[in-house]
Amino acid sequence: MADTDPSAKFEKISDSASRRIARFIEPFRVSPGSKVNLAKDFDPAFEGGIKKKEDGVALLNEGIELLAKYQARLAAQDTYGVLVVLQALDAAGKDGTIRHVMSGVNPQGVRVESFKVPSSRELDQDFLRRYQERLPSRGEIGIFNRSHYEEVLVVRVHPENLVRQQLPAETREHHVWKRRYEAINDWERYLSENGFRIVKLFLNLSKEEQRLRFLRRIDLPDHNWKFSSHDVEERRFWDAYQEAFSQMFSHTSTASAPWYVIPADRKWFARIAAAAVIAHTLIDIDPQYPTLSEDARRDLGAAKVALESEVPSAAAPNANGDAARATPPGKLIQKDG
Ligand code: AMP
Ligand code: MG
Repeated sequence: MADTDPSAKFEKISDSASRRIARFIEPFRVSPGSKVNLAKDFDPAFEGGIKKKEDGVALLNEGIELLAKYQARLAAQDTYGVLVVLQALDAAGKDGTIRHVMSGVNPQGVRVESFKVPSSRELDQDFLRRYQERLPSRGEIGIFNRSHYEEVLVVRVHPENLVRQQLPAETREHHVWKRRYEAINDWERYLSENGFRIVKLFLNLSKEEQRLRFLRRIDLPDHNWKFSSHDVEERRFWDAYQEAFSQMFSHTSTASAPWYVIPADRKWFARIAAAAVIAHTLIDIDPQYPTLSEDARRDLGAAKVALESEVPSAAAPNANGDAARATPPGKLIQKDG
């Protein structure tokens, strides 16, 4: 019986499909050690050879299915966890990407954590603490909607955030960003060594597409709730953010946790690319359903014999002591209501 053979490797994605995914995501990967100039090096409107949205739908569905399958094994194996870090400027589509890409996976195996302006309690702790506290466990995919990288982004672009963090003067004044990059790299390496793979995605939106999306939020009544005048104010710091992102990519794209810059001017393309990067990581982990030991298989066999010998006598009382409802042969029990 092939399907219960404990030595059988569970069906794996074909090598050619796996190579196709690796090739597709390669242009988005930030080579560790490279010096990045975001505006020059990455095109937000790139469509990677997929010309039509309709072609993209099939690809996205394939990706979603792949994620669901691998996530089930990741959970069963309970050895590795995956942390997906999602960073972007406003209106780049973080929420929609999470909704679509994760639409096929079992909600029990996924946890989404959003990070807002830190509370006064969080400001009184070291800067990585609140992120540490919300990491996924083994077997889980955790998604950070904004992440520890805000600590070298919004905090860098608006230094008053750093002042609020009450660091000792020598730490605050002496190479603070360089030290943060190093602390983040060390922390991520520690997590990798402990079985937690980190997938870092930046949704790269153009300034013009952001303008159009903000306008749409104003013009369409059911999108009004998404509009925030704070987001429009933040847009004035566009260049400072591009510079902070470029620095961050240059310093924190590592071999074990590289950054992927996802073209985000087309929402559908961003979703396909995000799904592909996450799928690539899961394929690489290649989680397997646990195989049973000889003892466990013997126990299973004994349990089966015991259960099969418990043939019910007709109309046995149920747990409440009521007589079980008699069901005529060939008829199904009707649901109430
Ligand atoms: P949103 O994700 O649109 O709900 O907004 C969350 C807000 O929290 C954004 O304006 C972020 O810039 C801000 N934020 C997130 N993390 C930090 C942080 N570590 N320090 C300061 N502001 C932050
Ligand atoms: Mg916002």
